Amino acid sequence: MSKKNENSENISRMVDLLRSGAVMLREACPVCHSPLFKVRDEIICPKCQKRVVIVQRDEEASKVLEESVLSTLKGTLVVKVQALEKEIAKEKDPDKLYELLRILVAFLEALERIKRIGA
Ligand SMILES: [Zn+2]
Repeated sequence: MSKKNENSENISRMVDLLRSGAVMLREACPVCHSPLFKVRDEIICPKCQKRVVIVQRDEEASKVLEESVLSTLKGTLVVKVQALEKEIAKEKDPDKLYELLRILVAFLEALERIKRIGA
């Protein structure tokens, strides 16, 4: 796609956003420096076509980081639980089964705690 086409597409996306009631913000996208738009509770960059998180204070920065770490961790744990479930399904030895279940409970407990923190 040519640069010119890209720009006009970007502009038409901005126009569409404004028509749909979005508000143009003073802040610019940290990636492409296009103006950002607020759509309901979300801030998006029409050029990157992505949601942008604007961080104002250190406190907020660490909260955003915390949320992203926790949500990654949650994903990892879910994958582990899935793998464990397959092992449990094929395991016949009661001792090994017990061991697998203990690990499963630990994973589920970790997931429960992440949920409690609010991720
Ligand atoms: Zn952008």
